Amino acid sequence: VPASSHPLSPDQRAELQQLLERRQAELMEEAAGQHDAIAPLGDAAGAEVRDAVEDGDARMQTSLELAQLRRDEDELREVRAALQRLRDGAYGRCEECDQPIPFARLQARPEARLCIAHEEAWEKSHPEAGRLLA
Ligand SMILES: [Zn+2]
Repeated sequence: VPASSHPLSPDQRAELQQLLERRQAELMEEAAGQHDAIAPLGDAAGAEVRDAVEDGDARMQTSLELAQLRRDEDELREVRAALQRLRDGAYGRCEECDQPIPFARLQARPEARLCIAHEEAWEKSHPEAGRLLA
């Protein structure tokens, strides 16, 4: 396969674009729901009925939701970047070595930017991020 030709067929690109758009919609919906869930904890309404234990639970719940929200926002950024690369024609190639990323890998991780070899190398040098993305 010549380096200049696109590694994916139009059908494959359409399928991956659909996966990315569906994931984008899910993440945006999730983020909207989490914002709604977190916002009421900050206002005074209902605060008088909570005792100290409930306040502690609410704070823990909120920090878990914020952590999840942050992961969703990171993933949403990746999904949007992948959709942009689809439009640019840069999609489906490793950013490190420019080799085509296998279609099966893109089906599992449509936002992938790296081939498996480079992803593994990256995760080894960023153990925290690797766990978060897994
Ligand atoms: Zn690579």
